[in-house]
Amino acid sequence: MKNYKVLLFYKYITFPDPEKFCKEHLLFCQQNNILGRIWIAHEGINGTVSGLSEDIEKYKSGIRKYPEFSDIWFKEDIYDTHTFNKIHVRVKEEIVNASFGEVDLSKTAKRLKPEELNKFYEDGKEFIIVDARNDYESRIGKFKNAITPGMKTFRDWTEVAEELTPYKDKMIVTYCTGGIRCEKASAYLVEKGFKDVYQMDGGIWNYINQYKDMYWEGSVFVFDERRIVTPNTKEEIKHIGKCYYCGKSSSYYINCHNQDCDKLFVTCDECKVENDYCCSDRCRQSPNRRKRVHG
Ligand SMILES: [Zn+2]
Ligand SMILES: [Zn+2]
Repeated sequence: MKNYKVLLFYKYITFPDPEKFCKEHLLFCQQNNILGRIWIAHEGINGTVSGLSEDIEKYKSGIRKYPEFSDIWFKEDIYDTHTFNKIHVRVKEEIVNASFGEVDLSKTAKRLKPEELNKFYEDGKEFIIVDARNDYESRIGKFKNAITPGMKTFRDWTEVAEELTPYKDKMIVTYCTGGIRCEKASAYLVEKGFKDVYQMDGGIWNYINQYKDMYWEGSVFVFDERRIVTPNTKEEIKHIGKCYYCGKSSSYYINCHNQDCDKLFVTCDECKVENDYCCSDRCRQSPNRRKRVHG
């Protein structure tokens, strides 16, 4: 029964009155049984929502009625249930937490289509591909040969840009989950004088919706209850994350069940059970362990 859809979307625009839009939008979501989270700021909108296919269609046309969103692009995924259990519509300072100051979004990097990226790889072109996501995201999935800077938050991008300085004249491709972070990250590089910068159009999401078992390796961390999506079937690139205990390939993340630790780590099923959902012997003996509901 796959009659649900998950939508991922964003658009940078100048919102005159985010508060007003926020109120109307929450009501609109409630009326159409839409769940998920939507952030609205003066700089635009950013959301991930789930709903029954027919409700999602209503939602899409509802948003497109606003002239500034008439051309908004939705990344869609079919699913067998809601992937959220609540609806949050909130006004925020920024739709992406960047805090590296004002970036001129009218001068963003060139957009690279998935088929163009494939061609870069196939032609053996010399290019640098950089993951603009956080460390825990790139640990379980990345594009072939990508640099994964291991950022703790998106704010670290300024340091990454610094480190990329030797490649200022080279071709650089940036990517993130849906494209929203790269729109800023790549614009930042352009602003810093990088000559030939691209952003993956529609992000990883757009790529894996069209190409599986190609140049994307491993899983994609998503910000809904699915946590991860595993697009590939080829064994060597299905999972690239490694179990923290035994090193076996896995994309499965858990938080250490010692609530004082809460460390996020990749584990395989066997090691998870064997270690009682904990990251160490010390955590396993903690009196403050989370009670398991199931599993
Ligand atoms: Zn293991
Ligand atoms: Zn722990």
